[in-house]
Amino acid sequence: MDIAEKMDKIVSLCKRRGFIFQSSEIYGGMNGCWDYGPVGSELKRNIKELWWRDIVRLHDNVVGMDASIIMHPRIWEASGHVANFQDMMVDCKKCKKRYRADHLDSDQCPECKGELTEPRPFNLMFKTQVGAMADAASVAYLRPETAQAIFAQYLTVLNCSRQKIPFGIAQIGKSFRNEITPRNFIFRSREFEQMELEFFVEPGTDETWNDYWIERRIKWYHYMGIKPERLKIRPHEKTELAHYAKSCVDIEYEFPFGWQELEGIANRSDFDLSQHQEYSGKKMAYKDINDNKEFVPWVIETSAGVDRILLTLLADAYEEESVDDDIRTVLRFAPHVAPIKVAVLPLFKKPQLQEIAKKLEEDLRGYVSTSYDEAGSIGKRYRRQDEVGTPFCVTVDYETLEDNAVTVRHRDSMQQERISLDRAVDYLVEQVNP
Ligand SMILES: [Zn+2]
Repeated sequence: MDIAEKMDKIVSLCKRRGFIFQSSEIYGGMNGCWDYGPVGSELKRNIKELWWRDIVRLHDNVVGMDASIIMHPRIWEASGHVANFQDMMVDCKKCKKRYRADHLDSDQCPECKGELTEPRPFNLMFKTQVGAMADAASVAYLRPETAQAIFAQYLTVLNCSRQKIPFGIAQIGKSFRNEITPRNFIFRSREFEQMELEFFVEPGTDETWNDYWIERRIKWYHYMGIKPERLKIRPHEKTELAHYAKSCVDIEYEFPFGWQELEGIANRSDFDLSQHQEYSGKKMAYKDINDNKEFVPWVIETSAGVDRILLTLLADAYEEESVDDDIRTVLRFAPHVAPIKVAVLPLFKKPQLQEIAKKLEEDLRGYVSTSYDEAGSIGKRYRRQDEVGTPFCVTVDYETLEDNAVTVRHRDSMQQERISLDRAVDYLVEQVNP
């Protein structure tokens, strides 16, 4: 299976099975925007919950927040986004197509070989108008990252949560970037969801905390079931560092289209807080009441994209294998990551079997996400569940009426075992929660 073929297969499976659709498809689609379907939204929710659990719940020095998307426009002046958040673009003089200059290999239009304009900057922030008056004072932006709201509120959050430095603030939310050329499915889109942690430390302790968070984040990707050999850490060269960063590493994943950034972990120094102190005129220093020290904290940031992680999970889990002269497509998600954990399938559409199957599915619902399917042959139903990555299928058959037991079929090995109906719920809940 070559690279383009694998991506095409993933995209078509995503549509067929309800992971991801093109936004506004009945109107011809909206470039760079995507809708998540029934199983896609379950998978997305799992990613966010497992991130939140690891970053916020398991750290007594990290708290959460949920900020507004539209903020005071001065925030983006202070952060440098108004002046610097731009890509260089070129236009084809002949067919008028627009490209990101650094995505081109030659000085000709890739479509029509026409001549290109000189590169010029294009700001990636979406502009909007707030209120009824459309004048310069009403201009606002959709946030291009969630981080800045955390910086602007860090003292308020620190005080109300009775935290001391070192401590962190985590946030999950939508961000918007007017990408010149959105591409690679949901890898680079115009509207996307971020999971960011800003961790505030005393200057001088920043490198220790930087190392801590790099290690912690890599472990999380392993915990999510992603193959370790397809992950690597790539430190940024001095020349590619953003203006605010003292150091930065990318966690990269080997996608079907090559090694690409999955998450950035940056030592942002005191750049952001100092900028906001200057632009707002409000003091951003932290005062340690115990030893009377006062300083503007340094910040370690971990910044990941939910959509990008979802694409990673799909690409990593996707496999095809030959089974009895047939090709079986299977998504080998870790059970705790899978959108549907257990499918309950009565072998035949017979009331005695349906009744037991429905009762079992109801009993499971409070603990795990479930699916009930009685349409088609059992083989076809197993394949449907394999394609959405359901780790366990439970079949109710005529024997169940005799021995009060059901068949549990394991997705990866396709092995089957007989489990007593009384133990089934406990057994399955245990299997999906490592
Ligand atoms: Zn052209």
